[in-house]
Amino acid sequence: MKIHNFNAGPSILPREAIENAAKAVLDLNGMGMSLLEISHRTKDFEAVNDEANALLRELLNVPENYKILFLGGGASTQFFTVPYNLLEKKAGYVNTGVWSKKAIKEAKNFGETVVLASSEDKNFTYIPKGFEIPADLDYLHITSNNTIYGTEFFEDLDSPVPVVADMSSDILSRPIDVSKYGIIYGGAQKNMGPAGVTFVIIREDLVGKVSRALPSMVDYKNHIANDSMFNTPPVFPIFVLKEVLKWVKAQGGVKEMEKRAKEKAEMLYAEIDRNPMFVGTAVKEDRSRMNICFVMTPEYEALAPEFLEFAKSRGMVGVKGHRLVGGFRASCYNALPKESVQALIDCMQEFEKIHVK
Ligand SMILES: *Cc1c(COP(=O)(O)O)cnc(C)c1O
Repeated sequence: MKIHNFNAGPSILPREAIENAAKAVLDLNGMGMSLLEISHRTKDFEAVNDEANALLRELLNVPENYKILFLGGGASTQFFTVPYNLLEKKAGYVNTGVWSKKAIKEAKNFGETVVLASSEDKNFTYIPKGFEIPADLDYLHITSNNTIYGTEFFEDLDSPVPVVADMSSDILSRPIDVSKYGIIYGGAQKNMGPAGVTFVIIREDLVGKVSRALPSMVDYKNHIANDSMFNTPPVFPIFVLKEVLKWVKAQGGVKEMEKRAKEKAEMLYAEIDRNPMFVGTAVKEDRSRMNICFVMTPEYEALAPEFLEFAKSRGMVGVKGHRLVGGFRASCYNALPKESVQALIDCMQEFEKIHVK
Protein backbone atom coordinates (compact mmCIF):
# COMPACT_ATOMS: atom_id res chain seq x y z
CA MET A 1 0.00 0.00 0.00
CA LYS A 2 1.25 3.47 -0.81
CA ILE A 3 2.04 5.49 2.32
CA HIS A 4 0.98 9.12 2.52
CA ASN A 5 3.21 10.77 5.09
CA PHE A 6 1.53 13.68 6.89
CA ASN A 7 3.87 13.61 9.90
CA ALA A 8 4.38 16.96 11.63
CA GLY A 9 8.10 16.54 12.26
CA PRO A 10 10.38 14.83 11.65
CA SER A 11 8.50 14.53 8.43
CA ILE A 12 8.53 13.59 4.79
CA LEU A 13 11.70 14.36 2.81
CA PRO A 14 12.31 14.18 -0.93
CA ARG A 15 13.07 10.56 -1.87
CA GLU A 16 16.07 11.69 -3.91
CA ALA A 17 17.64 13.35 -0.89
CA ILE A 18 17.25 10.15 1.13
CA GLU A 19 18.72 8.01 -1.64
CA ASN A 20 21.73 10.28 -2.07
CA ALA A 21 22.25 10.34 1.68
CA ALA A 22 22.08 6.54 1.78
CA LYS A 23 24.80 6.34 -0.88
CA ALA A 24 27.01 8.79 1.02
CA VAL A 25 26.59 6.75 4.17
CA LEU A 26 27.99 3.73 2.32
CA ASP A 27 30.72 5.58 0.41
CA LEU A 28 31.25 9.31 0.15
CA ASN A 29 32.60 10.51 -3.19
CA GLY A 30 34.27 7.16 -3.89
CA MET A 31 36.59 7.69 -0.91
CA GLY A 32 36.09 4.15 0.33
CA MET A 33 34.77 5.64 3.56
CA SER A 34 31.35 6.51 4.86
CA LEU A 35 30.22 10.09 5.35
CA LEU A 36 29.90 8.99 8.98
CA GLU A 37 33.58 8.13 9.24
CA ILE A 38 35.33 11.26 8.04
CA SER A 39 36.53 14.32 9.89
CA HIS A 40 34.37 17.42 9.64
CA ARG A 41 37.64 19.23 8.83
CA THR A 42 38.22 17.34 5.60
CA LYS A 43 37.83 18.97 2.19
CA ASP A 44 35.01 16.61 1.41
CA PHE A 45 32.89 17.70 4.33
CA GLU A 46 33.83 21.35 4.01
CA ALA A 47 32.48 21.16 0.47
CA VAL A 48 29.19 19.79 1.82
CA ASN A 49 28.93 22.56 4.41
CA ASP A 50 29.81 25.24 1.85
CA GLU A 51 27.32 23.92 -0.66
CA ALA A 52 24.52 23.81 1.92
CA ASN A 53 25.36 27.36 2.90
CA ALA A 54 25.47 28.63 -0.68
CA LEU A 55 22.24 26.88 -1.62
CA LEU A 56 20.31 28.30 1.32
CA ARG A 57 21.72 31.74 0.60
CA GLU A 58 20.61 31.48 -3.00
CA LEU A 59 17.18 29.99 -2.32
CA LEU A 60 16.23 32.62 0.26
CA ASN A 61 18.18 35.44 -1.31
CA VAL A 62 20.09 36.02 1.93
CA PRO A 63 21.94 39.38 1.84
CA GLU A 64 25.72 39.59 2.26
CA ASN A 65 25.56 41.02 5.78
CA TYR A 66 23.87 37.87 7.11
CA LYS A 67 25.60 34.66 8.14
CA ILE A 68 24.12 31.20 7.87
CA LEU A 69 24.89 28.68 10.60
CA PHE A 70 24.11 24.98 10.91
CA LEU A 71 24.19 24.02 14.58
CA GLY A 72 23.05 21.37 17.00
CA GLY A 73 20.52 21.68 19.79
CA GLY A 74 17.27 22.19 17.88
CA ALA A 75 15.06 25.26 17.74
CA SER A 76 14.61 24.83 21.51
CA THR A 77 18.27 25.75 22.06
CA GLN A 78 17.69 28.96 20.10
CA PHE A 79 14.89 29.85 22.56
CA PHE A 80 17.62 30.70 25.10
CA THR A 81 20.51 31.43 22.72
CA VAL A 82 18.64 34.40 21.24
CA PRO A 83 18.03 36.25 24.53
CA TYR A 84 21.48 35.24 25.80
CA ASN A 85 23.00 37.10 22.85
CA LEU A 86 20.50 39.89 22.31
CA LEU A 87 18.47 40.71 25.40
CA GLU A 88 19.98 43.64 27.24
CA LYS A 89 17.00 45.67 28.44
CA LYS A 90 13.74 44.45 27.01
CA ALA A 91 12.41 41.99 24.46
CA GLY A 92 8.95 41.74 22.88
CA TYR A 93 7.25 38.46 22.05
CA VAL A 94 4.10 37.54 20.17
CA ASN A 95 2.44 34.55 21.79
CA THR A 96 0.83 32.38 19.13
CA GLY A 97 1.12 28.96 20.72
CA VAL A 98 3.15 26.34 22.51
CA TRP A 99 6.45 27.14 20.79
CA SER A 100 6.08 30.87 21.42
CA LYS A 101 5.37 30.20 25.08
CA LYS A 102 8.47 28.10 25.41
CA ALA A 103 10.55 30.87 23.82
CA ILE A 104 8.98 33.45 26.18
CA LYS A 105 9.72 31.29 29.22
CA GLU A 106 13.41 31.15 28.31
CA ALA A 107 13.70 34.86 27.55
CA LYS A 108 12.40 35.70 31.03
CA ASN A 109 15.61 34.25 32.47
CA PHE A 110 17.61 36.99 30.78
CA GLY A 111 15.66 40.22 31.15
CA GLU A 112 12.36 42.04 30.81
CA THR A 113 10.16 40.14 28.42
CA VAL A 114 6.88 41.66 27.31
CA VAL A 115 4.15 39.84 25.44
CA LEU A 116 3.00 42.39 22.87
CA ALA A 117 0.13 40.33 21.55
CA SER A 118 -1.37 36.91 22.14
CA SER A 119 -4.03 34.67 20.65
CA GLU A 120 -4.28 32.52 23.76
CA ASP A 121 -7.78 33.91 24.48
CA LYS A 122 -9.11 31.80 21.61
CA ASN A 123 -6.89 28.75 21.95
CA PHE A 124 -4.40 30.18 19.43
CA THR A 125 -6.78 29.91 16.49
CA TYR A 126 -5.65 33.19 14.94
CA ILE A 127 -2.64 35.46 14.40
CA PRO A 128 -2.79 38.77 16.32
CA LYS A 129 -2.52 41.81 14.06
CA GLY A 130 -2.02 45.54 14.34
CA PHE A 131 -0.09 45.38 17.60
CA GLU A 132 2.31 48.19 18.54
CA ILE A 133 6.01 47.38 18.39
CA PRO A 134 7.81 49.70 20.84
CA ALA A 135 11.03 51.15 19.42
CA ASP A 136 12.95 50.53 22.65
CA LEU A 137 12.93 46.72 22.38
CA ASP A 138 16.14 44.83 21.78
CA TYR A 139 14.16 42.63 19.43
CA LEU A 140 10.71 41.29 18.60
CA HIS A 141 10.21 37.51 18.53
CA ILE A 142 7.57 35.71 16.50
CA THR A 143 6.79 32.11 15.57
CA SER A 144 6.02 32.41 11.87
CA ASN A 145 4.12 29.15 11.65
CA ASN A 146 2.40 27.48 14.55
CA THR A 147 2.95 23.81 13.91
CA ILE A 148 0.53 22.68 16.60
CA TYR A 149 -2.37 25.11 16.07
CA GLY A 150 -2.09 25.52 12.29
CA THR A 151 -1.84 29.30 12.00
CA GLU A 152 0.75 31.23 10.04
CA PHE A 153 2.10 34.74 9.47
CA PHE A 154 2.10 35.25 5.70
CA GLU A 155 3.79 38.64 5.73
CA ASP A 156 7.21 39.77 6.81
CA LEU A 157 6.49 42.33 9.55
CA ASP A 158 7.62 45.93 9.32
CA SER A 159 9.33 46.59 12.61
CA PRO A 160 11.45 49.35 14.12
CA VAL A 161 13.46 46.69 15.99
CA PRO A 162 15.09 43.47 14.71
CA VAL A 163 12.56 40.69 14.17
CA VAL A 164 13.62 37.25 15.36
CA ALA A 165 11.54 34.50 13.79
CA ASP A 166 11.22 30.83 14.64
CA MET A 167 10.55 29.50 11.13
CA SER A 168 10.97 25.83 12.00
CA SER A 169 7.87 24.72 10.16
CA ASP A 170 7.43 27.13 7.25
CA ILE A 171 10.96 27.93 6.11
CA LEU A 172 11.30 27.41 2.33
CA SER A 173 7.53 27.36 1.82
CA ARG A 174 7.33 30.94 0.56
CA PRO A 175 9.78 33.64 -0.50
CA ILE A 176 10.72 35.89 2.41
CA ASP A 177 12.48 39.22 2.62
CA VAL A 178 15.38 38.23 4.86
CA SER A 179 16.42 41.88 5.23
CA LYS A 180 13.29 42.41 7.37
CA TYR A 181 14.64 40.01 10.01
CA GLY A 182 17.44 40.11 12.53
CA ILE A 183 17.52 36.34 13.05
CA ILE A 184 15.65 33.49 11.40
CA TYR A 185 16.08 30.09 13.01
CA GLY A 186 14.51 26.69 13.19
CA GLY A 187 14.92 22.98 13.58
CA ALA A 188 15.47 21.55 10.10
CA GLN A 189 13.30 18.52 10.69
CA LYS A 190 10.01 19.97 9.41
CA ASN A 191 10.73 21.34 5.96
CA MET A 192 14.48 21.39 5.41
CA GLY A 193 16.08 18.17 6.50
CA PRO A 194 16.31 15.47 9.13
CA ALA A 195 16.37 15.95 12.89
CA GLY A 196 19.69 16.99 14.38
CA VAL A 197 20.51 20.25 12.64
CA THR A 198 19.30 23.76 13.39
CA PHE A 199 19.58 26.59 10.88
CA VAL A 200 20.31 30.14 12.01
CA ILE A 201 20.35 33.08 9.61
CA ILE A 202 21.70 36.06 11.47
CA ARG A 203 22.47 39.68 10.72
CA GLU A 204 26.11 40.03 11.63
CA ASP A 205 25.92 43.40 13.37
CA LEU A 206 23.60 41.96 16.05
CA VAL A 207 26.28 39.80 17.65
CA GLY A 208 28.88 40.84 20.21
CA LYS A 209 26.77 43.66 21.64
CA VAL A 210 25.35 42.26 24.84
CA SER A 211 27.16 43.09 28.09
CA ARG A 212 26.79 39.73 29.88
CA ALA A 213 29.45 37.03 29.66
CA LEU A 214 28.44 34.24 27.29
CA PRO A 215 29.41 30.58 27.43
CA SER A 216 31.43 29.93 24.26
CA MET A 217 28.94 27.51 22.76
CA VAL A 218 26.01 29.93 22.93
CA ASP A 219 27.95 32.90 21.59
CA TYR A 220 26.93 33.36 17.95
CA LYS A 221 30.24 35.14 17.39
CA ASN A 222 32.17 31.90 17.81
CA HIS A 223 29.98 29.98 15.41
CA ILE A 224 30.18 32.76 12.84
CA ALA A 225 33.97 33.03 13.11
CA ASN A 226 34.31 29.29 12.53
CA ASP A 227 31.69 28.75 9.78
CA SER A 228 29.58 26.50 12.03
CA MET A 229 32.68 24.46 12.90
CA PHE A 230 33.37 25.89 16.35
CA ASN A 231 32.70 22.38 17.54
CA THR A 232 31.82 19.25 15.57
CA PRO A 233 28.76 20.13 13.52
CA PRO A 234 25.99 17.59 12.86
CA VAL A 235 27.72 16.16 9.80
CA PHE A 236 25.11 13.70 8.59
CA PRO A 237 22.05 15.97 9.02
CA ILE A 238 23.88 18.76 7.20
CA PHE A 239 24.54 16.42 4.29
CA VAL A 240 20.86 15.50 4.05
CA LEU A 241 19.84 19.16 4.39
CA LYS A 242 22.15 19.98 1.49
CA GLU A 243 20.44 17.29 -0.60
CA VAL A 244 17.01 18.69 0.29
CA LEU A 245 18.11 22.19 -0.76
CA LYS A 246 19.41 20.78 -4.06
CA TRP A 247 16.00 19.23 -4.60
CA VAL A 248 14.17 22.48 -3.80
CA LYS A 249 16.36 24.32 -6.28
CA ALA A 250 15.84 21.70 -9.00
CA GLN A 251 12.06 21.94 -8.54
CA GLY A 252 12.15 25.67 -9.23
CA GLY A 253 13.06 27.15 -5.86
CA VAL A 254 11.00 28.70 -3.11
CA LYS A 255 8.51 30.36 -5.45
CA GLU A 256 7.61 26.96 -6.85
CA MET A 257 7.37 25.57 -3.29
CA GLU A 258 4.93 28.38 -2.47
CA LYS A 259 2.84 27.64 -5.54
CA ARG A 260 2.60 23.97 -4.62
CA ALA A 261 1.93 24.74 -0.95
CA LYS A 262 -0.94 27.05 -1.93
CA GLU A 263 -2.36 24.45 -4.27
CA LYS A 264 -2.24 21.65 -1.73
CA ALA A 265 -3.60 23.78 1.11
CA GLU A 266 -6.44 25.14 -1.02
CA MET A 267 -7.46 21.64 -2.07
CA LEU A 268 -7.58 20.31 1.47
CA TYR A 269 -9.21 23.37 3.07
CA ALA A 270 -11.85 23.34 0.32
CA GLU A 271 -12.73 19.78 1.26
CA ILE A 272 -12.75 20.58 4.98
CA ASP A 273 -15.13 23.48 4.30
CA ARG A 274 -17.37 21.47 1.98
CA ASN A 275 -17.58 18.18 3.86
CA PRO A 276 -20.32 18.29 6.54
CA MET A 277 -18.33 15.94 8.77
CA PHE A 278 -15.30 18.20 9.22
CA VAL A 279 -14.49 21.73 10.29
CA GLY A 280 -11.22 23.68 10.35
CA THR A 281 -9.94 24.94 13.69
CA ALA A 282 -8.08 28.12 12.65
CA VAL A 283 -9.69 31.31 11.35
CA LYS A 284 -9.65 31.28 7.57
CA GLU A 285 -7.30 34.18 6.90
CA ASP A 286 -4.59 32.79 9.18
CA ARG A 287 -4.77 29.14 8.15
CA SER A 288 -1.36 27.55 7.84
CA ARG A 289 -0.39 26.02 4.52
CA MET A 290 1.99 23.67 6.28
CA ASN A 291 -0.05 22.25 9.16
CA ILE A 292 -3.70 21.88 8.35
CA CYS A 293 -5.75 21.34 11.50
CA PHE A 294 -9.36 20.19 11.51
CA VAL A 295 -11.82 18.33 13.70
CA MET A 296 -15.06 16.48 13.31
CA THR A 297 -18.16 18.68 13.41
CA PRO A 298 -20.04 18.27 16.75
CA GLU A 299 -22.67 16.09 15.11
CA TYR A 300 -20.06 13.49 14.10
CA GLU A 301 -17.56 13.95 16.91
CA ALA A 302 -17.91 10.38 18.15
CA LEU A 303 -16.64 9.13 14.79
CA ALA A 304 -13.19 10.74 15.10
CA PRO A 305 -11.38 7.53 16.19
CA GLU A 306 -13.11 5.63 13.41
CA PHE A 307 -12.01 8.17 10.83
CA LEU A 308 -8.41 7.83 12.00
CA GLU A 309 -8.62 4.06 11.58
CA PHE A 310 -10.28 4.46 8.20
CA ALA A 311 -7.55 6.85 7.02
CA LYS A 312 -4.84 4.57 8.37
CA SER A 313 -6.26 1.63 6.46
CA ARG A 314 -5.83 3.69 3.29
CA GLY A 315 -2.19 4.52 3.90
CA MET A 316 -2.51 7.88 5.71
CA VAL A 317 0.19 8.35 8.32
CA GLY A 318 0.46 11.09 10.93
CA VAL A 319 -3.00 12.67 10.60
CA LYS A 320 -3.89 12.47 14.29
CA GLY A 321 -4.12 15.99 15.69
CA HIS A 322 -1.91 17.27 18.48
CA ARG A 323 -3.48 16.53 21.87
CA LEU A 324 -3.93 20.29 22.54
CA VAL A 325 -6.14 20.73 19.46
CA GLY A 326 -7.56 17.25 19.01
CA GLY A 327 -8.99 15.96 15.77
CA PHE A 328 -6.65 15.87 12.84
CA ARG A 329 -3.57 17.56 11.51
CA ALA A 330 -2.29 17.05 7.99
CA SER A 331 1.19 18.47 7.64
CA CYS A 332 1.75 19.34 4.00
CA TYR A 333 5.46 20.15 3.81
CA ASN A 334 7.36 20.75 0.58
CA ALA A 335 8.16 17.10 -0.05
CA LEU A 336 4.55 15.94 0.29
CA PRO A 337 3.15 15.33 -3.20
CA LYS A 338 -0.23 16.66 -4.25
CA GLU A 339 -1.32 13.03 -4.78
CA SER A 340 -1.11 12.45 -1.04
CA VAL A 341 -3.40 15.41 -0.38
CA GLN A 342 -5.81 14.05 -2.97
CA ALA A 343 -5.68 10.63 -1.30
CA LEU A 344 -6.65 12.19 2.03
CA ILE A 345 -9.47 14.11 0.37
CA ASP A 346 -10.72 10.86 -1.23
CA CYS A 347 -10.67 9.32 2.21
CA MET A 348 -12.77 12.13 3.67
CA GLN A 349 -15.27 11.81 0.84
CA GLU A 350 -15.58 8.05 1.15
CA PHE A 351 -16.10 8.44 4.88
CA GLU A 352 -18.81 10.98 4.21
CA LYS A 353 -20.59 8.58 1.82
CA ILE A 354 -20.68 5.93 4.52
CA HIS A 355 -21.91 8.18 7.34
CA VAL A 356 -23.88 11.12 5.94
CA LYS A 357 -27.35 10.15 4.89
C1 LIG B 1 9.16 21.61 16.16
C2 LIG B 1 9.23 23.04 16.53
C3 LIG B 1 10.12 23.50 17.50
C4 LIG B 1 11.01 22.58 18.31
O1 LIG B 1 12.12 22.25 17.59
P1 LIG B 1 13.27 21.33 18.23
O2 LIG B 1 14.22 21.24 17.08
O3 LIG B 1 12.64 20.03 18.60
O4 LIG B 1 13.84 22.03 19.40
C5 LIG B 1 10.18 24.85 17.75
N1 LIG B 1 9.39 25.72 17.08
C6 LIG B 1 8.52 25.31 16.15
C7 LIG B 1 7.68 26.31 15.43
C8 LIG B 1 8.41 23.96 15.84
O5 LIG B 1 7.54 23.54 14.91
